[in-house]
Amino acid sequence: MTTPQEFRCEICGIITNHPMHWFIIQCGDASLTVLRWKTEVANAPGARHFCGEAHAQIYISRWFDAACSPPKPDFLRPTGS
Ligand SMILES: [Zn+2]
Repeated sequence: MTTPQEFRCEICGIITNHPMHWFIIQCGDASLTVLRWKTEVANAPGARHFCGEAHAQIYISRWFDAACSPPKPDFLRPTGS
């Protein structure tokens, strides 16, 4: 038996020894990957830990904001003739 590890949610800061229904996100400049919980994945370098879908989504929203700013004002492009 291995000793239980502690993981902390990056959004709310809750700490758990039993990350049931937690998610892992691997985030880079070019991509963001959501992974189901697996201890070896959770211990990988750069892995981020979230206590549930809601908090994983908060992180993803922040990543979208950072990745897509400044926004491209494409909607001003004239349509029709
Ligand atoms: Zn949380």
